[in-house]
Amino acid sequence: MEYKAFLIKYAEIGTKGKNRYVFEEVLCKRISEHVAGLGEFSIRREYGRIFLEAESAYDYEDLTTELKKVFGIVGICPIVVEEHVEFEAIKSRAVSYMQECYGGQALTFKVNARRTNKAFPMHSMELNSEIGHFVLEALPGMSVDVHTPDVMLHIEVRDRVYIYSETIKGAGGLPVGTNGKAMLLLSGGIDSPVAGYMISKRGVELEAVYFNAPPYTSERAKQKVIDLAKIVAGYAGHIRLHIVNFTDIQLAIYEKCPHAELTIIMRRYMMKIAQHLAGENQCQALITGESIGQVASQTMHSLACTNEVCTMPVFRPCIGMDKQEIVDISEQIGTYETSIQPYEDCCTIFVAKHPVTKPVLDVIKRSEAKLDDVIDELMEKALGSVEVVDI
Ligand code: ATP
Ligand code: MG
Repeated sequence: MEYKAFLIKYAEIGTKGKNRYVFEEVLCKRISEHVAGLGEFSIRREYGRIFLEAESAYDYEDLTTELKKVFGIVGICPIVVEEHVEFEAIKSRAVSYMQECYGGQALTFKVNARRTNKAFPMHSMELNSEIGHFVLEALPGMSVDVHTPDVMLHIEVRDRVYIYSETIKGAGGLPVGTNGKAMLLLSGGIDSPVAGYMISKRGVELEAVYFNAPPYTSERAKQKVIDLAKIVAGYAGHIRLHIVNFTDIQLAIYEKCPHAELTIIMRRYMMKIAQHLAGENQCQALITGESIGQVASQTMHSLACTNEVCTMPVFRPCIGMDKQEIVDISEQIGTYETSIQPYEDCCTIFVAKHPVTKPVLDVIKRSEAKLDDVIDELMEKALGSVEVVDI
């Protein structure tokens, strides 16, 4: 079946009252960005519905794969369009549609007609029974079930007639760009890309920051983070990735602070720098992939110590999830295979054998004081040499 058009269903943005118009507009913009490059398309809005119409040839798989990445869409219905708003035309189009999709199968169906075009003389109920009758006649394997049909044949009579029965599940959430912007601390691991995906799904635009430690971490480790950012950007749209050279700060911490506290102190400086970059780039919050108890630096005590340097809200959508639950999402969104590539991360190199699991803030602050004479200059240098990659 060759589909010329798609009905795009959205749920949550429909509940936004007066803002609904803005949400719809942003969603249309996101859709057009996602489908750009896949063919010529036009997008029409009509009474709370969005129609995507193909103006040129396109690949069905590519298009639906892309539409499934647009936050704000709950369902994608491939539709056939009948231009003649007239019973005979509707009937033959509906019957041939059913034949092509379900011919030869033993299935139950129900016709669900909707008439918004009041110039069309038949009522919805009449259409239901008339079309149902002709489908039964033309497809001997089919029978009617009005309660739990296998196939719901939708017929919408507007200024044209739309016929569809299939709904491809969309990503859900809200369109990116309807809820501000946040800075994602993106490492090469499994959790942070998932965290970015989850917050972006709520309509939040993303920027990202990666702390690099050359030559202790390789060019390949950095490329892996760029690759992950690209996959997340497939959903979230354009991401500016800030790459911070963190080596000197890490070496100073390693040299001057107790090794058991390395990770906590390092994490505090990461948050400080991330927050600075967030402020400079109009972000309202930070995002991390932290999850309670996953590692020593993510116990409640550790998280509290890390969080203490933040004045901005920090969103940690993986916080209550088990590792397997995070892995499941990363597989579903396509980041898992890249995340498990074995390239070292700055946290894995400068790691203590026995990290504190119950750090005490005052003790950590006293250890940090040992960096007093160098840290300002090192922070300035790190911030001054940020490399920005547009993803
Ligand atoms: P992840 O999959 O996010 O790497 P992880 O279990 O390895 O998870 P940690 O290394 O403890 O977690 O880091 C916790 C969080 O801190 C990460 O989820 C990420 O948001 C941030 N983070 C850690 N290392 C870096 C880094 N090198 N650059 C940017 N952010 C980082
Ligand atoms: Mg990590």
